[in-house]
Amino acid sequence: VVRVEGLRKRYGDKLALDGVDLEVHEQEVVAVLGPSGSGKSTLVRCIHQLETIEGGAIHLDGELLGYEAHRGGYRTLSENRVCVQRRRMGMVFQQFNLFPHWTVLKNIAEPAMSVHGQSRRQAEERARDLLDRVGLADKADVHPRHLSGGQQQRVAIARAVATRPRVVLFDEPTSALDPELVGEVLKVMKDLAETGMTMVVVTHEMEFARDVATRCVFMADGKVVEEAPSDQFFSAPRSERLRSFLSRYS
Ligand code: ATP
Ligand code: MG
Repeated sequence: VVRVEGLRKRYGDKLALDGVDLEVHEQEVVAVLGPSGSGKSTLVRCIHQLETIEGGAIHLDGELLGYEAHRGGYRTLSENRVCVQRRRMGMVFQQFNLFPHWTVLKNIAEPAMSVHGQSRRQAEERARDLLDRVGLADKADVHPRHLSGGQQQRVAIARAVATRPRVVLFDEPTSALDPELVGEVLKVMKDLAETGMTMVVVTHEMEFARDVATRCVFMADGKVVEEAPSDQFFSAPRSERLRSFLSRYS
């Protein structure tokens, strides 16, 4: 579904991504782990077309993202065309990013209507169905400020999947939550994985990575240092770096 090749991203002098390769296949749940500053957020932000890149390529279902062929080379796509590509992905941020002045229902249904041209009836029906699935059927008409962080994040997940994306990208979706609210959000993500949704999840939740992810990717210094099926990743890490990283979590 997603193919990242030789991705390089620089912030000023700092090389945040230094030649990253990543493939995410249909129905895979890929967990991205690594120390702070290793480039995890940058990677998913680049996939979601929120950053310009200095080198390499990102494909979604075989289509090059962000660029088009032009006079034997490539040029960046217009913001409009980038938006069209971005619509095929969902993204869930650490800080929920719901619209505070919209009800929960509108937060979920509006993008499907304005961006995907669904009818209000269709979009709201799906929004209610998704709210039911994330356990918030009774919160449709409430504004986000009346919800706990865990509830807001469950709404954000419902919003991300409302448009039936090809892949959902998560950037530390539980890091901003009080510890007692983390479980309910991970549960919703696990349920989503079980529906066969393709997911890329930046997380520090080792249990989720081990039990839900099909594959884990370990990043350090802007590079993928190691990747393996989840059971192998935790039981038989190959690099010293990953071993010492994992030992800090057990
Ligand atoms: P964390 O676990 O703390 O979220 P991360 O793995 O997500 O870390 P990134 O946020 O991707 O790391 O950052 C990778 C590198 O790029 C870091 O050195 C960071 O300081 C730098 N960086 C990220 N965003 C910016 C920015 N907007 N401007 C300048 N430097 C940035
Ligand atoms: Mg980050």
